[in-house]
Amino acid sequence: MSNYIVLVKQVPDVSQITDNAFDPDTGTLVRSRLASVINELDAQALAFANKMKRDSGDKAGRIIALSMGPPMAEEVLRYSLSRCADIVILLTDRALGGADTVATANPLAFTIRKIVREILKNDNNYYVITGMQSVDGDTAQVPAQIAEELNLPCIAYVTDAEFKSNRFEFTRIISGGSQTVAAKKLPAVITVAKYEYPLFATFSRTRWANKTKVISWAASDINATHIGVTGSKTSVIRVFPPGKSTRKCQQISDADSLVKVLVESFRSGNGQTGKNGQAQTPRYVLPNKRASLFYRSFEGTKKEQEDYEILTEKLKELGITKTDQIDDAVREKILAAAGENFHKKALEDMIEGFKLTKSSFEGEVWVVAEHSDSVVHPATFELIGKARELADSLETKVGVAVAGYNIESMAEDLIAAGADNIYVIEDKLLRVFDPAAHRRAIADAISTYWPQIVLYAATPQGRMLAPMVSYRVSCGLTADCTGLDIKDSSRKGDIGLLLQTRPALGGNVMATIRTKNSRSQMATARPGVMKRIPADLSRKGKIIRHKVRLSEDDISLEIIKTELGRGEVNFNAACVVSGGKGMQSRDNYEHLMGLLCDALNKKLDTQVERGASRAAVEQGFIERVHQVGQTGTSIGPKLYIALGISGAIQHMIGVANTETIVAINSDPNAPIFKQCDYYIVGTVEDTIPKLVQELESQ
Ligand SMILES: Cc1cc2nc3c(=O)[nH]c(=O)nc-3n(C[C@H](O)[C@H](O)[C@H](O)COP(=O)(O)OP(=O)(O)OC[C@H]3O[C@@H](n4cnc5c(N)ncnc54)[C@H](O)[C@@H]3O)c2cc1C
Repeated sequence: MSNYIVLVKQVPDVSQITDNAFDPDTGTLVRSRLASVINELDAQALAFANKMKRDSGDKAGRIIALSMGPPMAEEVLRYSLSRCADIVILLTDRALGGADTVATANPLAFTIRKIVREILKNDNNYYVITGMQSVDGDTAQVPAQIAEELNLPCIAYVTDAEFKSNRFEFTRIISGGSQTVAAKKLPAVITVAKYEYPLFATFSRTRWANKTKVISWAASDINATHIGVTGSKTSVIRVFPPGKSTRKCQQISDADSLVKVLVESFRSGNGQTGKNGQAQTPRYVLPNKRASLFYRSFEGTKKEQEDYEILTEKLKELGITKTDQIDDAVREKILAAAGENFHKKALEDMIEGFKLTKSSFEGEVWVVAEHSDSVVHPATFELIGKARELADSLETKVGVAVAGYNIESMAEDLIAAGADNIYVIEDKLLRVFDPAAHRRAIADAISTYWPQIVLYAATPQGRMLAPMVSYRVSCGLTADCTGLDIKDSSRKGDIGLLLQTRPALGGNVMATIRTKNSRSQMATARPGVMKRIPADLSRKGKIIRHKVRLSEDDISLEIIKTELGRGEVNFNAACVVSGGKGMQSRDNYEHLMGLLCDALNKKLDTQVERGASRAAVEQGFIERVHQVGQTGTSIGPKLYIALGISGAIQHMIGVANTETIVAINSDPNAPIFKQCDYYIVGTVEDTIPKLVQELESQ
């Protein structure tokens, strides 16, 4: 008999954002002004647990829903009871507030231990089932960190489960395809990426749900080791509105006009240039290289910035060039000149801060390499480019940790891409990616050499490995960064910190985060955002072989089947046309795609390649090798045309470097319209023939 502990979270409803949900002064989204709902993927996880219980044929198995949050989170537990949960537990305590992912995963893991002890009577035949991520955090870190705390196998990005020979086999999303796996032992943690078969509440079940007791536990009931703000290993230092899209987002009313802009932008190349329109910031230099001892590449609140400017201005006026010249008289002069808003405490902190000139962290800047069949994932090269820039600023080396079997041949390319030291962890047991075994290998290397920064690609593999490694080595981790900069932070003078900027709340706000209480600063970064530097084959580097003792017991998953895209596709073509689920059928995809690609090929006199969204591939419209996106290929053609594609983040990541994006979609509110240059609202069946006609006649 299996039991199912389902984690459910109450989140702000980011799908229903009104204008008054934004703070007029800061431009950022105010969470409390949004309605609260169950996190959609958690609702899917609940339905998934119900399916597992049903498919196993075991009526005695119990579904226990667990939520951590304020008292009002009881609502999502009543929702769970009204669908399929048998028992519900709310972990609620003010002391748990303000937690990052470590301080969320840790108390949840301790609560699961208590559930197993007291409710399941130490029966270890259970699954922890969660949504892949929540819409407010978007990190996907908590489930992997719970697995790490409880020392359980973790199967992430699951889309299906099949009960076979008395156990479950899970289908999950991986880079370039999908995989079927089973946990080698139970308990196990499962994260659900998609299960679109919602459960509905009946009248009688809703009545029962409203009468059923919600078990409520406080922090003192679970004795977790990391809770709340103090137990967190990251802190948010700034929240700001996302920059305006650099795309034109222009609606075109007819095929005739669309052909004109499409041909013109293709020929003139006047679309997006540079990467994501990101502004270049001046390179950070350590204090010993700065023109003035008092110069700080400072990041802080507006007030802190203002105080800092007043202080440096005043020191300049008074001719102060060394910290020991700042005596009581100087302090008084500064305070008198600065006015009443400048606090004495702030002044003391900043003067103390000026005395610090050494970096707060020490060691190399590392990238954890991702690879498959001895081919390095493109995102690894992008990260090495970023790591090079960070390491040059911090006057240190770039290290790349690569775990696998027969992998030394990759070192040459990694060095040419900008690495200095390649840490090779080689073992037969690392031949294919197993989260637990690779976690062990990478965590061991990190805790031997202690780099000051570790970067992972925010691919399904990196987003799984990074939280496990960081939790194991007790370091903070920021997910899905789109900006990584070195800055000095806090007026007390922390020097050379990695500031990690990422979108949150479904991309409606940006947050800059720093690491605390950690020996190393860790982040995953979105593929396609950082810049790869051109390969330099003359670069020299060192290979350092790191031995880790592994045994069969370190392997957590049995891999049953892996399906990867194979075949020839030329995604270097100047024009790529992709079809999504909106193409409706394989026949439609082939027919309409054929017409449009031929017409474009003739008109633009260029090769036109076919692409697809993941959903289109899963519908069988075209082979997987044509998939564009986070788990497909990232491309950067001059012209990208998206047909019947909604614009999910995982798809759009893959086309971020495209010059001009054109979208055709029948839904006037399709998210892709906010991320493209030109669009037509219309069905593909209607619009494509007209477009082809115009391409042929103009
Ligand atoms: C870990 C992970 C990795 C992923 N990796 C990728 C990836 O690499 N690439 C990827 O693409 N996705 C990826 N996804 C999936 C992604 O989240 C979306 O589910 C997927 O991109 C949706 O594909 P779609 O836009 O074709 O389908 P949908 O989201 O279903 O959108 C279909 C669109 O077609 C429109 N439409 C319907 N009928 C018509 C018509 N007749 N004419 C015109 N328009 C019509 C609809 O309005 C809708 O906007 C990943 C997801 C996860 C969890």
